[in-house]
Amino acid sequence: MSVTDTAIIGAGPYGSSLAAHLRAAGMAHQILGEPMGAWRNYMPPGMLLRSEAFASSLHAPRSGFTVEDYCRQKGIPYQPMGMAFPLETFVDYGLWFQGSLVGDIQAVDVLNLRRVGGQFQLALSDGRSLIARKVVIALGLKGYAQTPPALQGLPQRYASHSEQHGDLTWARGKDIVIVGGGQSALGLSALLHELGARVRVLMREAEIVWHERPEAGRSILSKIRHPDAGLGRGWRSLFLSECPHLFHMLDQARRRLVMDKSYGASGAWWLHDRVVDKVEIWSRTEVRSASIDNDRVVLRVMSDNEEALVDADHVIAATGFKTDMRQHAFLSKDIVDAISVHGGLPELTSNYETRIGGLYVIGPASAHSFGPVMRFVYGTKHAAPSVARHIAGSLKAGARESRWSPGDSPMSEQTSE
Ligand SMILES: Cc1cc2nc3c(=O)[nH]c(=O)nc-3n(C[C@H](O)[C@H](O)[C@H](O)COP(=O)(O)OP(=O)(O)OC[C@H]3O[C@@H](n4cnc5c(N)ncnc54)[C@H](O)[C@@H]3O)c2cc1C
Repeated sequence: MSVTDTAIIGAGPYGSSLAAHLRAAGMAHQILGEPMGAWRNYMPPGMLLRSEAFASSLHAPRSGFTVEDYCRQKGIPYQPMGMAFPLETFVDYGLWFQGSLVGDIQAVDVLNLRRVGGQFQLALSDGRSLIARKVVIALGLKGYAQTPPALQGLPQRYASHSEQHGDLTWARGKDIVIVGGGQSALGLSALLHELGARVRVLMREAEIVWHERPEAGRSILSKIRHPDAGLGRGWRSLFLSECPHLFHMLDQARRRLVMDKSYGASGAWWLHDRVVDKVEIWSRTEVRSASIDNDRVVLRVMSDNEEALVDADHVIAATGFKTDMRQHAFLSKDIVDAISVHGGLPELTSNYETRIGGLYVIGPASAHSFGPVMRFVYGTKHAAPSVARHIAGSLKAGARESRWSPGDSPMSEQTSE
C-alpha cells in the first residue's frame, strides 16, 4: 500500500495542468491514467481541433508552455486563430507539456475508489493500492456518451458511438450512416468520406450552423463590439470563457438555462467545404427504430414528416455526451450517492470540491457548476490553479491540526523539483 497527499485520476489536459501546479507548489501527489489517453485512442487521426490554437493550451504554473511556445520550439507554423490545428500536433504538445512540467505519470486505471476513515483508498489496475488524503477526478467525457434509444442494444458490429472511434480505416468502402448534426458528426463525415466510405448524415436540425471563419485585421471597433474569446466571439463568450466563478454564483435554474442555450450543434468553418456537396445530408430527421437485416443495419426514420428506411453497414451515433457520475463503475456506492446530486451531476463548491470533503471534480464533469468553458481545454486555466491553491491551503491547515502521517511508502512520490 502506498500513500500520497493527492491522487489525480486522469492524465489528460485537466489532470496534467493540475499536476503541474501541485508540483510547482511542492505538494506531494500522484497522477494516474494513460498520458493524453482519450486524445490518442478515441479521436480519429487527421482530426483538426475545433478550438482555436490560442485557446488550446494546457495551463502551466509558469510561462513558456503554451501551444505557441511549443510550435515556436519545434518550428511549426503557428497562428492564434484560423490555424488548422491537427490532433497529432496537439497530442505531441500535451506529451511535451507533461514531460516538461508533470514528471512521472502512472499509466494505470483506477478500478475502485472508496472512503476509509477520513481518507481515500484507490485500487489500481496493476494490483497496487494507494491511500490519498485528497482525490481529484479528471476523466474528461469518459462514460458520458449519449446514444438515442432507437440505437441502443444493436450489436457493436453495426452500431457505435463517435467516442469509440480512433482509427477509421475499417470503414473504407463501407456505407456509413452518422446520426447527429454537430462538430463530431460533421468532422467524422468528412474524414470517412475522404478515406472512401459512402456517408450519410441524419440530423435533427433544419440546417447546419457553420462557424464564421475568423477574419484577419478586424477594426478596433469590431473587436470592441465582438471581442474574441476562448470559446468564440462576443461578450457572452467572453463572460463564459473568463468568469466561471461568476457562473458558479448563478442559481441552478439560470445555470441550466445558460448551458442549454450555449454552443449547440454547429460545425467549424474549415469543415464546410469538406462536407457540403460531398456528403449526403438529411435534415429534420429522427431515427425511430433500428434492426438488422441481411447483414445491414436498417433504420426507420422520420424525415420532413415522411417515413423512410435507411440501410447501411454501420451507424455511428455522434449524439454527444451527458455528465452522469453514476456511470463511473469504479466509484463506491456511498461516493456516488453523496456526489451525484441532480441526476448524476455533481454539485461543486467554488473550489471544485464535491459534497465529500477532499474529493474534487474538474474538466467537463464540472461544467454544470462552472459553465461550458469546462468542456474545453481552455478551462484548465481556471480549474488547475484554483484546485491546486485549495488543496495546498487545506493540507497545510490540516498538517497543523492533525497527526496524520504518510507512514512507510514503498513508492516514491512526486514533489516539486
Ligand atoms: C471528438 C472530440 C473533439 C474535441 N475537440 C476539442 C477541441 O478541439 N478543443 C477542446 O478544448 N476540447 C475538445 N474536446 C473536448 C475535450 O475532450 C476536453 O476538453 C478535454 O479532453 C478534457 O480534458 P480532461 O483532462 O478532463 O480529460 P481527457 O482528455 O478525456 O483525459 C481523461 C484521462 O483519464 C484517463 N482515465 C480514464 N479512465 C481512467 C481510470 N479509470 N483510471 C485512471 N485514469 C483514467 C484517460 O486515460 C485520460 O488520461 C473534444 C472532445 C471530443 C470528443
